[in-house]
Amino acid sequence: MKVLVAVKRVVDYNVKVRVKNDGSGVDLTNVKMSINPFDEIAVEEAVRLKEAGKVDEVVLVSIGSAKSEETLRTGLAMGADRGILVNTDDLAVEPLAVAKILQKVTEKEQPSLVILGKQAIDDDCNQTGQMLSALMNWPQGTFASEVALDDTQVTVTREVDGGLQTVKLSLPAVVTTDLRLNEPRFASLPNIMKAKKKPVDKLTPAELGLGEGDIKPRLEIVQTQEPAKRQAGIKVVTVAELVDKLKNEAGVL
Ligand code: AMP
Repeated sequence: MKVLVAVKRVVDYNVKVRVKNDGSGVDLTNVKMSINPFDEIAVEEAVRLKEAGKVDEVVLVSIGSAKSEETLRTGLAMGADRGILVNTDDLAVEPLAVAKILQKVTEKEQPSLVILGKQAIDDDCNQTGQMLSALMNWPQGTFASEVALDDTQVTVTREVDGGLQTVKLSLPAVVTTDLRLNEPRFASLPNIMKAKKKPVDKLTPAELGLGEGDIKPRLEIVQTQEPAKRQAGIKVVTVAELVDKLKNEAGVL
């Protein structure tokens, strides 16, 4: 059985992002980029399924500039077998465009399971997996905190408001990962070296049969703003003063 995993190159989660002076977006100059954390969990899950003998091949796909190859290499060092880079240069690809590209790759690769992150931490869209499932007309199990795979179906425990929901999907299917699904491994140095030699196919949306209209942005970013700065606090000397301020200034008592 083959599993396809979608991995996105995003600003590292430890970086405090800055907005460009003209408010047109986030400044990416000299910023550390990494694999999207939810996608790292997706790769880990696929590799564990392979180690358990349930999956024969783990294929990664990333859509973006040529630099997304680094993201693929990170996943390959964790144990995936090969990568596919769909080069969209610096064009901003929105979830629908990504989903259409993933649809073409899925049709070409014919995996039994596609695993994506529940959301990319740069756009926080939480849309691509759902859109891919709709385009493929495959069942979806989103926000997975547990995945059990057998030959014909996958059982997904989902993190929903106030509890867990378990769904059974017949294969082929789309699964998106939540934070508690697993703890991704650190790639060892020998595996990082080995990953440099693993194959990465390079494709363009046109080679997958997609036109400009399929991938062009549909949204216009009007403005990007930093969150409002926190106001400085004050020190009070007595409890009575605190209660007075809460009552008469803050109005919360
Ligand atoms: P989003 O809908 O943008 O929040 O992204 C959800 C998931 O879709 C991510 O966690 C990735 O698995 C996948 N995805 C989104 N954009 C890309 C991309 N450019 N390349 C590869 N996978 C992507």
